[in-house]
Amino acid sequence: MNLARFSRRRYTPHATPIQHLKHLSAHLGGPEIYIKRDDLLGLSGGGNKTRKLEFLVAEALAQGADTLITVGAVQSNHCRLTLSAAVHEGLKCRLVIEQRVPGSYKPQASGNNFLFDLLGVEAITVVNSGDDLAAAMQAVADDLAGQGRKGYVIPGGGSNPLGALGYVACAEEILAQTFDMGLALDHMVCASGSAGTHSGLLVGLAGNNAGLPLTGINVRRPRPEQEGNVHDLAVRTAAFVGLAEPIARETVRCLDEWVGPGYSLPTPEMVEAVRLLAQLEGVLLDPVYTGKAMAGLIGLVRRGEFAKGEKVLFLHTGGSPALYAYQDVLSAA
Ligand SMILES: *Cc1c(COP(=O)(O)O)cnc(C)c1O
Repeated sequence: MNLARFSRRRYTPHATPIQHLKHLSAHLGGPEIYIKRDDLLGLSGGGNKTRKLEFLVAEALAQGADTLITVGAVQSNHCRLTLSAAVHEGLKCRLVIEQRVPGSYKPQASGNNFLFDLLGVEAITVVNSGDDLAAAMQAVADDLAGQGRKGYVIPGGGSNPLGALGYVACAEEILAQTFDMGLALDHMVCASGSAGTHSGLLVGLAGNNAGLPLTGINVRRPRPEQEGNVHDLAVRTAAFVGLAEPIARETVRCLDEWVGPGYSLPTPEMVEAVRLLAQLEGVLLDPVYTGKAMAGLIGLVRRGEFAKGEKVLFLHTGGSPALYAYQDVLSAA
């Protein structure tokens, strides 16, 4: 694929490392587990939205926008990183915060919410789950237009075909890196939320005929709905990059057994995964996405999904700043 024809800002000056999790692999006694450290991407605190923003912000700048507008949950990593990209580019940023859990927006909360303030957000609008998020962001853009300013609206999670290009590029990065390392992967696992990461990877893998199966672990939606969302965005992203082959529906796999009671709500398996990765590998996961995704990978290993000696790559999509808003459920004391 020729991604060089899309304009892009660079927020990470290097490829993120792929590391062998040897203590975790030994502890579980199953496949050899590797981790792609996208928690070490650029912008404040890293995480997967940085890759999407490289393409989205390039378009915002080309359009002459002075303000980035986006939406996310109360502990949104995507909002933190969009705001950080805005600061980096000398733009303003306004956020729409969606209370997915009623009453969950606390202006004084720690974690990402504290960083919204620290990074200098210009304004926050709080809406409820079920409200029209696109309309709420358009209202912010209209308000700016009334003052002679120009907003650029980024959808939730940066998940449209332009943003998903970040993960088409990441698939190419992983294939080049594993070739270099002599590492022949058998499987990949990632968290599946607003679908841009999962869809972009599928398109990048398909476009390179990688033959590498990818399993998404859902953080919010039931399996049929999430598989539909991922397939739909993958099809649109494939058309956007000009992929000749269609994305087969059978390659989209989104497991929902590790969502628990709902988006962002803790589960015992998430707590186990976060504590295990910290104490065996010194890797900080997060309570909302990668803790549940790793709980899914651990669950699949225990279920015998992978043969001993197979090589499985877990994509660490970031999120550790949210740990500080979950100290009560995550600490042993
Ligand atoms: C947004 C996010 C995800 C999910 O990625 P999507 O592209 O929205 O599916 C996973 N992990 C972290 C830490 C995130 O912030």
